[in-house]
Amino acid sequence: MVQAEALIDKVRAWVAQAQRVVVLTGAGISTESGIPDFRGPQGVWTRDPEAEKLSDIRYYMADAAIRKKAWQARLVHPAWEARPNAGHEAIVALERRGKLHALITQNIDGLHQKAGNSPERVIEVHGTVLKVICMRCGWKGPMQETLIRLLTGEDDPPCTLCGGILKSDTISFGQNLVPEVIDRALRCAAEADCFIAVGTSLQVYPIAGAVSEAKAAGARVVIVNAEPTPFDDIADAVLSEAIGNTLPQIL
Ligand code: NAD
Repeated sequence: MVQAEALIDKVRAWVAQAQRVVVLTGAGISTESGIPDFRGPQGVWTRDPEAEKLSDIRYYMADAAIRKKAWQARLVHPAWEARPNAGHEAIVALERRGKLHALITQNIDGLHQKAGNSPERVIEVHGTVLKVICMRCGWKGPMQETLIRLLTGEDDPPCTLCGGILKSDTISFGQNLVPEVIDRALRCAAEADCFIAVGTSLQVYPIAGAVSEAKAAGARVVIVNAEPTPFDDIADAVLSEAIGNTLPQIL
């Protein structure tokens, strides 16, 4: 499908006029870097519904077998090898133009920072796979060290301080979000004059609500996603071609 040039031009003009662009990204921005999303046609859960258990805190805390499987999946996580793509780079360019108010991401892969966005602009609402956290004492440390423990024979490495269960420092399903992080994300969304949702099915709340926050505060809302989302009706523009092709044109 040829994306209407006129629509691209219109969105590019909105971005040029805007002073506080807020970008919300989801797993779709990283598929072109080789990291599958969850719910897209090639998504991890689309292909293996059982895999959802690995991202559910209830199974993770209750079942050592699930934790072992989750650690094996961490060991071969595509994020370790992934390079940022043209979509990530376009958002770095937007920041260099002085227009990026905030970059809210549901992703845990660290690719926005790897691409060159300032860490203080990136709001990671679902945490990061680059760290581990102890579920008992709250200690945090680099993922790298725990991966080395796995490679040297441990299959469910406990916290070295208190013996508690370790987990990647990501928000699993069934786990509480960090209220200050969500508050900051929703506040930034409400301060946007242009809000762009990229590569997210907008099915995970409360962060999907950032779209309505921005719209209610008067921002132009643009959705860049291959599949329809529940927010397409309130968007000022919906662009459904590949993110790596679309973002460099509009940002
Ligand atoms: P999702 O899997 O629900 O939706 C991704 C959307 O992106 C889909 O609608 C898909 O059609 C679209 N998409 C994929 N590749 C695209 C492309 N190249 N061009 C245009 N559109 C494309 O993702 P979500 O809404 O972010 O929710 C999944 C949750 O899982 C998130 O909360 C996130 O924390 C986590 N997750 C993160 C990663 C990561 O860090 N890279 C990967 C998988 C899942």
